[in-house]
Amino acid sequence: MTQTPGPDPGDWRPPPHWQIPGLPCHDCGRRTTADGGLADGLGGREFYVVHDDVWPIGGLDGFLCVECLECRIGRRLVPGDFPDVPANAPNPADSPRLRAAKGR
Ligand SMILES: [Zn+2]
Repeated sequence: MTQTPGPDPGDWRPPPHWQIPGLPCHDCGRRTTADGGLADGLGGREFYVVHDDVWPIGGLDGFLCVECLECRIGRRLVPGDFPDVPANAPNPADSPRLRAAKGR
């Protein structure tokens, strides 16, 4: 079995899909950020960071709404899944679902 090295965090650059307005969910296509309007059917923004061991295996390169991530990992997200980084700070634009998952 070969192991693919992960990306070097010191060499990180925004990938091309960050240029797509609304940062659509990889699985359902709903926009995860408002981008000047309302996120599609999510009741708010779902822009967040989770620990590497929570993100779907295979190094998915993109965005997932909370529902699609929970579907992939087969459980609900809990506050411990979210590292203490600025992207996870409480935000009034967050969807109720994301706020509940983060616990903040
Ligand atoms: Zn989705």
